[in-house]
This record gives sequence, C-alpha cells and structure tokens, in this order.
Amino acid sequence: MKNAGEIYTVECPCGSIISDSEMSELILQVQEHAKINHDMLLTAQDVEDMAHT
Ligand SMILES: [Zn+2]
Repeated sequence: MKNAGEIYTVECPCGSIISDSEMSELILQVQEHAKINHDMLLTAQDVEDMAHT
C-alpha cells in the first residue's frame, strides 16, 4: 500500500539527492549511484533504510 503522489528520497552523504515515486526504481537508482560514484554495493534493504518521503 502506498500513498499517491509520495516521492521517496535518498540523500547520499556526497550531497547527491536521488528521488523517485517508486521505491523499486529508487533502489535501482541509488544502487547505481553508489556503485559508480562510491564503489559501494548497497542492498535493497540498505536503500529502504536510507529512504524517506
Ligand atoms: Zn553519492
């Protein structure tokens, strides 16, 4: 269940802000960002823990 119009946001410690209305999409985007920019592999749970609306 999700609320319409809600945007999930992750603020990376590097200052990048990544947001998406779909958690599944946000997870992919944050995982990609972390891998490319920080050589870090994040799990879906890691991203969910970082995300806020
Ligand atoms: Zn970053």
